[in-house]
Formats: sequence, structure tokens, C-alpha cells
Amino acid sequence: TERVLSGMQPSADSLHLGNYLGALVNWVEMQERYDAFFFIPDMHAITVAQPPEELRQRVRRTAAQYIAGGIDPERSTLFVQSHVPEHAQLAWLMICSTGMGEASRMTQFKDKTAKGGADAASVGLFTYPMLQAADILLYQPHGVPVGEDQKQHVELARNLAQRFNHRYGETFRLPEPYIPAEGARIYDLQNPTAKMSKSAESPNGLLNLLDTDQQIAKKIKSAVTDDGSEIRFDREAKPGVSNLLSIYSVLSGTTIDELVAEYEGKMYGHLKVDLADVVVAKLGPVRDRAEELLRDPAELDALLAKGAAKARSVASETLAQAYDRIGFLPAG
Ligand code: ATP
Ligand code: MG
Repeated sequence: TERVLSGMQPSADSLHLGNYLGALVNWVEMQERYDAFFFIPDMHAITVAQPPEELRQRVRRTAAQYIAGGIDPERSTLFVQSHVPEHAQLAWLMICSTGMGEASRMTQFKDKTAKGGADAASVGLFTYPMLQAADILLYQPHGVPVGEDQKQHVELARNLAQRFNHRYGETFRLPEPYIPAEGARIYDLQNPTAKMSKSAESPNGLLNLLDTDQQIAKKIKSAVTDDGSEIRFDREAKPGVSNLLSIYSVLSGTTIDELVAEYEGKMYGHLKVDLADVVVAKLGPVRDRAEELLRDPAELDALLAKGAAKARSVASETLAQAYDRIGFLPAG
């Protein structure tokens, strides 16, 4: 079976609906068909300073949400990046084979430093695509499920793999980006032309996996809608209503056309009330299961330790080969 690998940063207390529908739901499907590795990139999270106790909690919370969302730690390899030291070790090799110009062309760095300026950013934020290349290449995956915004980083990983293989001999498999279909793209409820994102300005635009039923209903009720009163799908003219329709459609399995027919002549309020029910019905059980898992952190930590051991057995083999190829003297 082919192998895939993916991860989501533990940079907030909860994953949001975009992370769930755009990533997690696909992962859960993929674990049936692939040898799947899912990890929690905590080393990426510290490219921006995190309060230590919060980071620890967020890693556990992310793990709990992966599992509650359907990742089966028996079937898939679920682990925390910092538990597998080979990530940092291979990252150095990747950093040393990346040109300054090449690294400077990464658009994520430009986006993430657009506000504060590059001088205020950590060097880690600049080199994080090389750590990401190491994350990927260590496991020799065939595919890397990522959003459109991460495509350039997978491309870099491919280039670095190719360069290493060419210079030192065949070592890494060249991974393919697996990009999900457009339908899974979810937009901010308060600002429906921007994608729903952990780093959003207002928390009211995010539907979080760990939100209470009341929070979900309230956020949907106050979602920005568009001029007019007609319920139809039109991303340009009606981004707010279109986003609500697409969330509704993905979660309920009803097509957009069916929904539009069903809500003909009804008001935005009707759509919102029904959508809140649909979201609560879907996310409520995931939240409850995550909270149950979080009540036993020792058990969760034990699961993650098992995952790290499985991951390490693969990663250490790749690293040993890369160290040898590059000419490092064996430690004896
Ligand atoms: P940040 O703002 O810190 O970049 P994020 O909310 O964009 O956070 P990521 O950790 O960058 O989340 O992404 C994790 C996964 O979730 C990726 O596969 C990404 O493509 C997917 N994803 C993120 N936001 C959305 C969205 N609004 N709709 C669909 N998929 C999304
Ligand atoms: Mg992102």
C-alpha cells in the first residue's frame, strides 16, 4: 500500500471547521486505503513563541481532536513531531542544501511576515519549509495531503529530495501533493471572502470543533449575509450565503441545488437555524469524544508514545541512510 503523511499545527486551542472538512475528514478516509502517518507539528508551532503550558495543552487537544474526528491510532501512525528527533536532524541537512534565494521565494513566509515585517520574524519561520521537507522525506511517502497554500512547500521538498538523490545517490522518494477538491474550502463567517483560519482577526468567524452547541448556534446566527434576501449560490455576489450553503451541503450530503430549491422563498434566518442544527449534530459528538479523551491525559500520552515509536522506526532508517550518503562518520 502507498504511504501518506500529513499534519496540522497545534497553534490554537481548537481546530476549526475548515481544518475538519478540508483536512481531517479526508485523512480519515485515506487511512482506510493508505499506510497513513499523521503528526502534530509542535516544532513548527514554536516558530512563533508559545506559552509552554499552553503549547503542551494544545498538542494534547490537537491529538484528541484527530482521534475524535476519526483517526484510529491502531490503524494509522499518530505522533508528535518533537518526539521523533530525526525531524530536527534531517532538517539541518535540508537547510544546508537550500539556497537563500530559493528559501526567500516561499510565499508563506512573505504572507506571515506581511504585517510585522521580516526583521521581527524568527529565523525558524524562514527555515520552516526545510523542516517540513524533512518531516515529509523521513517517511518516504507517496503523497502528502495538503491545502493549496502548502503546495509550494511540497514542491520544495520534491526539489530537495531530487537534489540530494542526484548529489549523493538515491535516498528519498519524491512525494506528490494531494490537494482536496474545492468544495471542502470553508470561509470565515464574519469575512466570507477570506478562508476560515486559526489566525483570523475575530473568533466569531470560526466554527471550532470544541465549541459548545450554544457557541455554534450563536456564531451561525451572527454570520455575515449578503444584500438582498434570496438564497442562492453565487460566490462573487453572495459570498456569505454561498459559504453557509456549502457548509450545509458538505455536512448533510445534500447538493447545493437541492438546498436552493428547499429554501426558495425562505429567509436567511431559516437557513441559519437549520444549519446550526446540522453543524451541532455533526460536531457535537466529535467535541464530546475529544473532551472524554482529554479527561485522561496519561492514556493519551501513552497512545502518542506508541505512535512515536512506530514513526521512529521508519524515520531512523531514512536518517541513517542520509547521514551515511552525505559522508558523516559512523558513530561506531
Ligand atoms: P494558520 O492560520 O495558522 O495557517 P490554518 O487555520 O490555516 O492555520 P493550517 O494548520 O494551516 O490551518 O492547516 C491545516 C489543514 O487545514 C491544511 O490541510 C489546510 O489546507 C486545511 N485548512 C485550513 N483552513 C481551511 C479552510 N478554511 N478550508 C478548508 N481547509 C482548510
Ligand atoms: Mg494555514
